[in-house]
Amino acid sequence: MSDSGTSTNTVPVKTGLVALTGVNKHFGDLHVLKDINLSIGQGEVVVVIGPSGSGKSTLCRAINRLEPIDSGTILLDGQPLPSEGKALARLRADVGMVFQSFNLFAHKTILQNVTLGPCKVRKTDPKVAEKRAMELLERVGVANQASKYPAQLSGGQQQRVAIARALAMDPKVLLFDEPTSALDPEMIQEVLEVMIDLARQNMTMVVVTHEMGFARSAANRVVFMAEGEIVEESDPETFFTNPSSQRAQDFLGKIL
Ligand code: ADP
Ligand code: MG
Repeated sequence: MSDSGTSTNTVPVKTGLVALTGVNKHFGDLHVLKDINLSIGQGEVVVVIGPSGSGKSTLCRAINRLEPIDSGTILLDGQPLPSEGKALARLRADVGMVFQSFNLFAHKTILQNVTLGPCKVRKTDPKVAEKRAMELLERVGVANQASKYPAQLSGGQQQRVAIARALAMDPKVLLFDEPTSALDPEMIQEVLEVMIDLARQNMTMVVVTHEMGFARSAANRVVFMAEGEIVEESDPETFFTNPSSQRAQDFLGKIL
């Protein structure tokens, strides 16, 4: 067929704040991300769920380029991800990440943990950064811990600091990789409440979690991954009550 003026295979259409098209990633022989297509709109909350080893963390790491991809494109706000240098540092600042293991700087105070990024990467005036950090710590309910060190806080408090630290960079999108799975059960809810609050305020979020309560109250969409593929995508209610794929049914049977 000859190419017409309305051909679809020209410039990628700007579909979402984050747009992955045909993304593939291998670790040696292991095909970890298989032709992933995923578009995340401004203000959307996408929950990624799936068995251990299905590629959820790799997907998150690919979005902020902690992990290079083999093929495909990842656009942030319509722009391809830069591969190195200052442009990459800016991209990382635009894509906040909250990990399972908090990853706070152990030898810095809570306040310093939150001001460091803005001062170093955004070149924010230290006084301005401190004021904003205190507002964010207030927002996540740990302002009274500002002068302590991470080890003096509970896991739930540390994770809330990690969220404040990510927010301090004014990210365009926040990625959460199993943010509550290292927490004692009584601390899970206090972290989820902060995340639900962010979702209500239209933060664009990609959240890897098996917390169905969070998905039901905050997610616009659930993406189910298995063996490196997106097997199913639907609204949370449909996914949890009436999943269409056998793999999702089997998985939900194990976790619920
Ligand atoms: P999930 O987060 O869904 O548990 P991951 O993205 O962490 O899955 O891992 C997907 C697959 O890739 C797993 O089989 C894992 O062992 C493998 N993997 C992850 N990171 C690496 C790495 N750096 N080197 C080699 N294999 C890896
Ligand atoms: Mg993981």
